[in-house]
Amino acid sequence: MKLRIALAFGLSIFAVAAQAEQIVLTGATLIDPARNEVRDPSTNTDVNIDGDRIAGIGQKIRPALARVIDCKGKFILPGYIDTHVHFFQSGDLFTRPDVVDLTKVRPYADEVAWIKKNLPDTFERYLRSGITSVVDVGGPFWNFEVRKTANATAKAPRVAVAGPLISSVSRPQLDLGDPPIVKIDTPDQAREFVRKLAPQNPDLVKIWYIVDKDHPVDRFRPIVRATVEESHARKLRVAVHATELETARAAVEEGADVLVHSVIDKEVDDAFVKLLQDRHTILCPTLVVFERYGRTFANRLNLTPEEKAWGNPEVIATLDVTKVPRDQLPDRIKTALAKPDDALDRIKKIYDVALKNLKTLEDAGVTIAAGTDAGNIGTIHGPALFREFQLMKEAGLTSMQILQCATANAAKLFGGDIGTHVGSIEKGNFADLIILKSNPIDDIAHASDIYAVMKGGVLYPAAALLEAKKTEPPRASADDIAEHYVKLVSAMDQHDPDYVDAFYGAAGMESQSGRREEAARCYRY
Ligand SMILES: [Zn+2]
Repeated sequence: MKLRIALAFGLSIFAVAAQAEQIVLTGATLIDPARNEVRDPSTNTDVNIDGDRIAGIGQKIRPALARVIDCKGKFILPGYIDTHVHFFQSGDLFTRPDVVDLTKVRPYADEVAWIKKNLPDTFERYLRSGITSVVDVGGPFWNFEVRKTANATAKAPRVAVAGPLISSVSRPQLDLGDPPIVKIDTPDQAREFVRKLAPQNPDLVKIWYIVDKDHPVDRFRPIVRATVEESHARKLRVAVHATELETARAAVEEGADVLVHSVIDKEVDDAFVKLLQDRHTILCPTLVVFERYGRTFANRLNLTPEEKAWGNPEVIATLDVTKVPRDQLPDRIKTALAKPDDALDRIKKIYDVALKNLKTLEDAGVTIAAGTDAGNIGTIHGPALFREFQLMKEAGLTSMQILQCATANAAKLFGGDIGTHVGSIEKGNFADLIILKSNPIDDIAHASDIYAVMKGGVLYPAAALLEAKKTEPPRASADDIAEHYVKLVSAMDQHDPDYVDAFYGAAGMESQSGRREEAARCYRY
């Protein structure tokens, strides 16, 4: 196996360096959205990389030992940043039992165990999509471990995280002892919770400002105020989930630094736009997530070619709701399946407002950071960003604006020391870059035409990411074989032919992330 991987890497155009080195990327067109700039190769666009940093642009002298990589005809831009993901969610059908309860098909504890085990796979899918940094906008306390792991892993995006969501509503279905969502009832509780979070150095404190007739805007507002005060006193920024105009307005008035999701209930007014301008609030629209629950449940999922190619195949396999036994289907899915057009209509109505609002805010100079809410049902970790780009284009943003949202603006949302050293092609910044085969300024669809991805000065040819996995034979160690043999015998005893099929079948054995037994369960329903 090792030999095969070595061969695959060796045969590729670049040898993948085990360690960062001195590299010169030469002959490319440079696209730096931070400067709204496209630099033609005739002006000397050499990008010098030294270790994990950009050492200079357009330098006349090349270091003697530098590896020179010809990028003629290619386009270099900063690595993309998805500023809204959730690593505690897989994107599969079982990941939000509070929305659709399918725990009889797949217990939630199994779902979370799978998620944790597959984090390295998830990380690599981000890199394959050209995403070199992500912001996890809320999850259990083990999110802080995810950040630590990612930041110590070469083949992973840089990760900023928020801890558990401070919420107006409770979600007991997600509580396995370290809940991602914590209901807070009083300002004192909010302050106490921020004090508990602070030692973990969260990159953001997240508020889940859910409003309905039982939870009016004003009732939770004092909790928002207390959370912001306590956070700002500790130099922590606050991101607020707010999807209604009045909720979003209240959040910003109380000092929210970041608004997540779009306003979807009505068009934003001048006062709101001015408020965001005055407060320098960053807004992350997460357009794609608004269609994916509804489309998944109605069996009208519209995954893009990028999602199909680079999303986790086990996650995608679960999204076919017609495979769930009818008697196990929650009412919400049954209803959507019975009336798919109603689901599509609702999505259209949301987009009619959300896309218009995005254009208004972009035109007004509000800082928009691209984000997907990946991990939610049907929103695929990694390549979902390209669907987000399509929707931003539909809203009327130019290619350059979309790229600004996904690089320079997103770096502002990422924040901290890392945030100031990513998102632009600049001397001293981390060498986190994408090399594209076609020009994304001509058409944002080219943003996924990825030739290679560089993270921290290490260059990965696109074909060496994920593709290498496909050529790997199943990792069957002696222990694995013994373990599966025991399971197989017991499955036969229980007359469980599907397990046996899955064990012998290609789908089970070639499961990319090596969870053969779970894959078997997945394919069983
Ligand atoms: Zn979210």
